[in-house]
Amino acid sequence: MPVVPLADIQRAAERIRSSVVRTPLEASASLSRLVSVPVHLKMEHRQRTGAFKLRGAANAVLSLPPGTRGVVAASTGNHGRALAHAAREAGLACTICLSHLVPANKVAAVEALGARVHVHGASQDDAQREADRLERDEGLVAVPPFDHAAIVAGQGTIGLEIVEDLPDVTAVLVPLSGGGLIAGVAAAVKALAPDVRIVGVSMERGAAMAASLRAGHPVEVAELTTLADSLGGGIGLANRWTFDAVRELVDEVVLLTEAEISAGVRYIYQEEHEVVEGAAAVGVSALLSGRFRPRGATVALLSGRNIDPALHLRILNGADALEVGA
Ligand SMILES: *Cc1c(COP(=O)(O)O)cnc(C)c1O
Repeated sequence: MPVVPLADIQRAAERIRSSVVRTPLEASASLSRLVSVPVHLKMEHRQRTGAFKLRGAANAVLSLPPGTRGVVAASTGNHGRALAHAAREAGLACTICLSHLVPANKVAAVEALGARVHVHGASQDDAQREADRLERDEGLVAVPPFDHAAIVAGQGTIGLEIVEDLPDVTAVLVPLSGGGLIAGVAAAVKALAPDVRIVGVSMERGAAMAASLRAGHPVEVAELTTLADSLGGGIGLANRWTFDAVRELVDEVVLLTEAEISAGVRYIYQEEHEVVEGAAAVGVSALLSGRFRPRGATVALLSGRNIDPALHLRILNGADALEVGA
């Protein structure tokens, strides 16, 4: 049963209450004027560690049985940071596996969060294999970034807050990659308000969930550079939770060009005075580009703010694509 029950999401909210920020939902006067319906921004980029992923990671860590020896993951991005933080708060050892390709500043950032960093191999796949080995040989518990019931339930707590703060919401725009975020948000929102439209937003360049929905089963796509780097990566050919949940709960998936993503990041800075990463801007980009036309009160979920400052500056100056190799 891929859809996480509302009761599990409510229990997750209790479990993580003191570990996460209850982020505000703020009306955007400029976007509301532009699209002629009330638009609200869920300020989840202000979450501890700079992204929503702490909710799922904290729920997963706090659900582990006593005596757990430690957790392990192979993520250089927002999941790795969230898991390292959640494990430290819980007094649990955390190992993050990385490949030799990961730059030193990213390694240092994970170490600063108190995790043991294990450098292995020359690719993300090698790092994942090392995480699998540590799970087997050292008895560590693997905490995956999205395809896990406790992760989905944790991310779903955002949906509870949206409905509580804006009971007349008619649509929620959610950044979509592996689908843990949207599966949780959709499960919570639709359980409380079944008519709300749940819209997934991804980039055109390498959207694995969108391709899998078209194919009718999980497929791999070529990974391409994108300004929405936190939305890259596959959904797993052996996907257990999020593919079916997305298929059942998500009403529409919108795909964006790099220029549209760039315009969203710029707009959010210039009009809302918020720094967000490319992945977090996509809901606003979908409104600005007209690729999603809202009919009533709409929420765009800003999912994270972990963007390289130099890249953010380039986007503000009008860059609308990542130079390959840059
Ligand atoms: C992980 C992530 C997403 C996508 O979440 P999924 O659960 O993989 O769909 C969106 N935005 C940011 C900032 C992220 O870190």
